[in-house]
Amino acid sequence: MGQQSKSTVHSPLLTYFSMISLLTLCPPFVILLWYTMTHAHGSVLQTFSYLNNNGLQGFLTIWPKPSATACKIIAVYAAFEAALQLLLPGNTVHGPISPAGNRPIYKANGVAAYLLTLLTYLALWWFGIFNPTIVYDHLGEIYSALIFGSFVFCILLYIKGHLAPSSTDSGSSGNIIIDFYWGMELYPRIGKHFDIKVFTNCRFGMMSWAVLALTYCIKQYEENGKVADSMLVSTTLMLVYVTKFFWWEAGYWNTMDIAHDRAGFYICWGCLVWVPSVYTSPGMYLVNHPVTLGTQLALFILVAGILCIYINYDCDRQRQEFRRTNGKCLVWGRAPSKIEATYTTFTGETKRSLLLTSGWWGLARHFHYVPEILSAFFWTVPALFHHFLPYFYVIFLTILLFDRAKRDDDRCRSKYGKYWKLYCDKVPYRIIPGMY
Ligand code: NDP
Repeated sequence: MGQQSKSTVHSPLLTYFSMISLLTLCPPFVILLWYTMTHAHGSVLQTFSYLNNNGLQGFLTIWPKPSATACKIIAVYAAFEAALQLLLPGNTVHGPISPAGNRPIYKANGVAAYLLTLLTYLALWWFGIFNPTIVYDHLGEIYSALIFGSFVFCILLYIKGHLAPSSTDSGSSGNIIIDFYWGMELYPRIGKHFDIKVFTNCRFGMMSWAVLALTYCIKQYEENGKVADSMLVSTTLMLVYVTKFFWWEAGYWNTMDIAHDRAGFYICWGCLVWVPSVYTSPGMYLVNHPVTLGTQLALFILVAGILCIYINYDCDRQRQEFRRTNGKCLVWGRAPSKIEATYTTFTGETKRSLLLTSGWWGLARHFHYVPEILSAFFWTVPALFHHFLPYFYVIFLTILLFDRAKRDDDRCRSKYGKYWKLYCDKVPYRIIPGMY
């Protein structure tokens, strides 16, 4: 088994501090977020005053138990998604070459799984077989079950990484907390074909986002007999975003999440718990706060949001098309400007790679994060500005992506050395052209 690098992007003290904080604070935060959105009208002050008056006991009282209904809902959903992942046909796709020189193979059946999931969910509702409002009514219990279940899942991943790694892209840092938090395996699999990260990140996490967005919409409809335009705009934008994700899923398998971040608490717990709770939270808030925007404002937000999602998609597409064609493509109607870089793998082999320095990738080195953050803003702003909490996701995403840009820059600098410096000289801004 390989030895993982012990170096971290941030100082060791900051790394430990952030790891321990996230491990201990994220689970209670998810419960408090759900409680505030569904029981305290989205008011942080109301929740704070409740906790102030009732202390720890009050907090334990609002923490729902992972009920049998919640566990059944999660188990059926997870089994359905796992079956679709394994059984639906799809083209064979080769992932990027890993640091240990492996090339994972995937089956690209994400769009079919996405469409089948949403159609099945809507059909179950339409024909009166299962009412999605049950999911909303047991949401706290579902999050509670996910929190504990996913924690156990991450422990199992850690044990698998030690005892039965799926490939040579696995290793220990020598530190149990780092191994648990950042993960040990890059491509853990069950058997040859069932990729665990595709399941946690895509088919469970991202899919749950679309399923819950629909759930919130249906709940508002069943409660009020109609859906407010704010809910319609927010849900449509989230669904466009998730549709874009599955349309481009094979491209996602080339990104940092899959190609560089190992399967540990950071990625897997995040996708199994944080995505269904925090990412969907603007919709969760809107269920009981049906704001009426009016046609003009609603349309403006919708169009602006779709434009941002499109630009974000086009940034990813441009980079991948450029790499796929080995630079022999047009970028904004012209031959791309590029840097031909070489780097050395862990096994000592020298490889060649191309860095695009025109198009979106010539504006800033991580310009694609700007439309990503703006898209999130546009599916949140239908909640208007009565409360701060619906904006938590946008703020969290901004911090996550600024940190990610730094992590990626540092990784690319150590991978490409002088070639990355050339890119930085040519494209000096990290995220926002002319500013940062
Ligand atoms: P990517 O992995 O897609 O892009 C960064 C990688 O691309 C680098 O590690 C490098 O990899 C390569 N690269 C960097 N610069 C260039 C260049 N100039 N030309 C060619 N290749 C280059 O980034 P992310 O994974 O961060 O983002 C992917 C998508 O996911 C984005 O749309 C982002 O907005 C979204 N996202 C959403 C999040 C959310 O929570 N909502 C979180 C994170 C991302 P290599 O080693 O191959 O050279």
